[in-house]
Amino acid sequence: IPTWTRHDKSKGKEGKEEGEEPKAVPVLLSDKVSLYKGDITILEVDAIVNAANSTLLGGGGVDGCIHKAAGPCLYDECHTLNGCETGRAKITCGYDLPAKYVIHTVGPVARGHVGKAQKELLSQCYQNSLALVKEHGLRSVAFPCISTGIYGFPNEPAAEIALETAKTWIKKNVNEVDRVVFCVFLDTDFKIYKEKMSRFFPQD
Ligand code: ADP
Repeated sequence: IPTWTRHDKSKGKEGKEEGEEPKAVPVLLSDKVSLYKGDITILEVDAIVNAANSTLLGGGGVDGCIHKAAGPCLYDECHTLNGCETGRAKITCGYDLPAKYVIHTVGPVARGHVGKAQKELLSQCYQNSLALVKEHGLRSVAFPCISTGIYGFPNEPAAEIALETAKTWIKKNVNEVDRVVFCVFLDTDFKIYKEKMSRFFPQD
């Protein structure tokens, strides 16, 4: 069975009818995504995504936590990367983190105002990070709520963009990834994602 299919043994429109060969049905996209509330630096995934700034030389928020947990070698490697443009992504090792790699992406600065350009740039952060996952043959990745902290992107539209972009990408690249984790840190994001994930990734 190719990895993107599963067999539903129960009878039904997608399952095996009496006397028929079992039908391969597309895997549920909801099987590939998780919501986790807490510190991204403890996750044992192939890559965690860092909401970095364009210098890649450290900042506050999740970036500060990731550098602290990964140790000084992460800073040294970031120093060789020559920064990163908004919407783009670059990959480094994970050093002392349980994650093997860190994907550094730079979200748009919104400060409460979101125009078309900011929305597109935020979507590109997710797309370009996922492209690196695929390029490096990684199977699992965790995202923080990019741009919604210091960069001031409103939480709700940011979550919509994260979920919509990931859904579109996973649909197109269903063989390329086993798990995409949305790592929220705040109660408000947890509530937003919990409600939206069941809509973007229905379980049946
Ligand atoms: P940005 O500059 O892109 O807005 P921030 O780091 O300020 O990035 O915030 C992005 C999100 O990361 C916010 O929701 C913030 O609460 C969250 N965050 C902060 N620390 C952590 C952490 N250790 N693990 C996961 N998420 C975190």
